[in-house]
Amino acid sequence: MRRSRFVSGLSVGLSMAAAAALSAMPTWVAAQQPPATQPPRPPAGFRGGTQIKPGEDCPAGMTEIRPNNCLAPASPPPTIVDYRPKSTLIVPAAGMKWKAKYPVVDFHGHPSGLLGNADGIARLGASMDSVNVRLMIAADNVSGDRLTRTMELVNGSPTMKDRVRLLTGVNLNGVGPGWAAKAVAQLEADVKGGAVGIGEIGKGFGLSTKKADGTRLRLNDPDLDPIWEAAARLKLPVFIHTADPQEFFREVDNTNERWLELTLFPERLYPQDKYPSFNQLMAERDSLFLRHPKTTFVAAHLGWHANDLGRLGRMFDKMPNVLAEVGAVLYDIGRQPRSAHDFFIKYQDRLLFGKDSFQPEEYPYYWRVFETRDDYFDYYRDYHAFWKLYGIDLPDVVLKKVYYQNALRIMPAIQIPGWPK
Ligand SMILES: [Zn+2]
Repeated sequence: MRRSRFVSGLSVGLSMAAAAALSAMPTWVAAQQPPATQPPRPPAGFRGGTQIKPGEDCPAGMTEIRPNNCLAPASPPPTIVDYRPKSTLIVPAAGMKWKAKYPVVDFHGHPSGLLGNADGIARLGASMDSVNVRLMIAADNVSGDRLTRTMELVNGSPTMKDRVRLLTGVNLNGVGPGWAAKAVAQLEADVKGGAVGIGEIGKGFGLSTKKADGTRLRLNDPDLDPIWEAAARLKLPVFIHTADPQEFFREVDNTNERWLELTLFPERLYPQDKYPSFNQLMAERDSLFLRHPKTTFVAAHLGWHANDLGRLGRMFDKMPNVLAEVGAVLYDIGRQPRSAHDFFIKYQDRLLFGKDSFQPEEYPYYWRVFETRDDYFDYYRDYHAFWKLYGIDLPDVVLKKVYYQNALRIMPAIQIPGWPK
């Protein structure tokens, strides 16, 4: 693996012009406040601009440089992919470090390519060691023979037998008469084969998976009840990814925070004439979680509510059977260091570490956000977030819960000793 350098995220400071305009709010505005009926006048020596009415946006290509006065840059502006301002901020910083402070359970692992043979498993172990991930939960939906074979390979490795566990998949295609009995029997067989949970149930569930009769399989469909009840009986958490960021469900205009991602990967967009809305999917998911209070559900990607932690907190308050995992939403946690800190303290028993796509170089960004109070540093993918991140400075007792204690609590089948107290 590459450990020669950290990935340096490019920062695209879209909000810079707006921030500069605000912070440069000159004293003349207060001193020469014009009567409300007249638009404010530009200062002497000012080279002109376009007046707008209060509440109006500037015309395209212009930015508001004084109240209600817009100006275009004198040079052609760079595109948002080419604008790469270098931060001049100098502040004390803990900086990046490869290893997490405590051993970690990665609840949202996809090391599938590495689990096919002993050599791959050994390489996975080396990568995990480099970032202090002690236990990888592979969430690749393996079931039946593949699950048994993979567990045999893992158990056959003296160094890796306590380092990998598997979630099993449930085939949600063609749900209809007779489906549930087969699915429950497979689940029971996979538990005997070593599965410690169910998942990752992918976003196709809700968006595109069809029932045997051709209709969309709703998340709260009662035909699925037996499998969720079996999960509760077998003490298996159900790891479920529902929908995608809310910006993927609306128009890709200049106000969409994920404009760059949605134009790089247009297939990530869910046109609203073809797909259910974000809130429709969330309502079905919440109804599923409420229907099965004895089943432990883990919402992937903080349920796609990392941008609205109040909403996730209300879910946690209403649904004691629900936890959430932090994979691939670090950009939202790290842009609200105070709110996220308070949220992690309040819901410290309900949050799990998970990384999603297996890129060892990217774990240290998580450690830096969770463990430090560093200011204004790069994220690893600028198409997810054109902003910077801040450390949320979690205390040790919370780090231990998020890194491993909560995961071990909800998967009692994992009997691996030697975790720090
Ligand atoms: Zn995943």
